[in-house]
Parts: sequence; C-alpha cells; structure tokens
Amino acid sequence: MHKIFVSDYDGTVTGKDFYSLLAERYLPRDTPDYFAQYREGQISHFDAMAAYFSFAPTEEQQLEELLAASQPDPDLAASAALLRDAGWKLWVVSAGSSWYVERVLSRAGVAATVYSNPGRLENGRGLILEKMESSSPYHSASEGVDKSAIVRHALRVAETVAFAGDGPTDLQPALLIRPELRFARGLLAEALQARGEAFQPFSRWSEIARELA
Ligand SMILES: [Mg+2]
Repeated sequence: MHKIFVSDYDGTVTGKDFYSLLAERYLPRDTPDYFAQYREGQISHFDAMAAYFSFAPTEEQQLEELLAASQPDPDLAASAALLRDAGWKLWVVSAGSSWYVERVLSRAGVAATVYSNPGRLENGRGLILEKMESSSPYHSASEGVDKSAIVRHALRVAETVAFAGDGPTDLQPALLIRPELRFARGLLAEALQARGEAFQPFSRWSEIARELA
C-alpha cells in the first residue's frame, strides 16, 4: 500500500457535525453546552458526544432528514472514485459514531476503512455511543477512537499519508503529517495557525480529493 488518505468525517466530509444538528434541533433549551464543557476540559470528547447523541431521534424519517442536513459533499462518490483510481486508500476516522459514518459512505458507494465509535439506536435513549474494545490499539479513553494512533499506523504501512480534519480532535494527528498533505478548516485550521503550523486550507472535501489525485 503506497498512499493513504486519513480523513475526519463530521465537518470534513460533511458540512455540518451530526452532534451540532442534534443540538440545534432536538436539545431542550436548558441543556448544557456539552461541547463548551469539553473544550474547557470539564468532560471528555466521548462524553460530550454521548450526551448529544442521547437526544437523537430513533424514527427513520427524522434520522434521514438529519443525515441529509449534515450536507455530505455532493461530489463524495465521484471524489472517492477519483482517489481510488489515483491509488489512494481512504481511511475515515471519526470521534463521532460509525453508525452514521458507515451509513452515509456505503450509500454513496464509497469504499473506505472506517475507524469510529460503534453506536446503536434504542427507543427512548437515542443513539447510544460505545467505545472501541479497550484491547484495540486504536482505543482512546477520552475520544473513543485514537486518531493519532491510526495516523501513526498509516505512516508505518504507507509511503505517503495525507490527513484532513476540522476539529480539536484532529490537531494531534494533523501534526504527524507534513504540511503539504495536511488539510484543515474550522477549529483545526485555527489551532494550527495559533501554533504557526502550515497547512492546506479547504472548503469542500472534494477539493482535497482533486488535489491529491
Ligand atoms: Mg470533524
């Protein structure tokens, strides 16, 4: 395997994070700002996500609306095909849940290895987030999935590794990648800028695919 593109999912492949859509649409007004609590170090990223996901609807149609509202890149399928034809393997890493990541990717016909937190729907309890087995080399107590460990593994098995992300959990893995192959937007771009680290900005995932291909 020569080239691996490790990509975050929420806010990177999609325009909007699944958790933020839940916050906008399904959380009662007096619910705490779990993401702010995470950023202030009061709770883990995993616990923040699990809190939001517990408000997920379990009705099929409402879930479908949420997945559409997350705005996956409209050129996702074509871009993934472009990457594949150019010899890139796609690894999708997400501190959200493979429940929706795999659903969206497989529907678009995208072949990718997904590393994320398993989840299952339960009536009255929303989307229940689970951690990877603690015996997994990619297990993280705070994020569920250790994105840095996954990038380090990619760097061991591939000659070329690219990374794309948009959030705080993407900072450490992004720093393992050289700037020409480090794609960032949002909070990740801000965090890299604050450290004086170079990166490639992007506005849509399909731009990265074209760039890499
Ligand atoms: Mg993200």
